[in-house]
Amino acid sequence: MDLRVGNGYDIHRLVAGRPLILGGQHLEHPDGLGLDGHSDADVLVHALMDALLGALSLGDIGKYFPPTDPQWKGADSLVLLEQVMALVRERGWSVVNVDTVVIAERPKLKPHINAMREAIASHMGIDPERVGVKATTNETLGAEGREEGISSHAIALLSKP
Ligand code: MG
Repeated sequence: MDLRVGNGYDIHRLVAGRPLILGGQHLEHPDGLGLDGHSDADVLVHALMDALLGALSLGDIGKYFPPTDPQWKGADSLVLLEQVMALVRERGWSVVNVDTVVIAERPKLKPHINAMREAIASHMGIDPERVGVKATTNETLGAEGREEGISSHAIALLSKP
């Protein structure tokens, strides 16, 4: 069996007048802030897509869904994730597991973690048992701690018989 591992990272700015979507879930920030970006700016799903692409050395999401392309304006990142999974599957690979972490000061993400896992798993076509989603604050340190943005890290393990 052949195995490949990939990692991904992303950060988006927190701004007024934008929705806050993480792991496909529409969340409420206490100050009404959301994530800025060309697509829906789902930083968690973006990091995950880069991990999947990275495992197969296929580049990054900017290559497949460039922010200069109006086609991806306001795009649902979970739909983009399905397209990344198609690239993985058409090469004969399947997902062993993925693990992610979101770094956000607010809002509290814990109540939404399982919904995020279910949404990601269903769009990837895998069991939620194989999808780890964790959340941490940055202890008020750095850009995430000052609520200038929310970032995410992801890792993906792929196998091929
Ligand atoms: Mg992004």
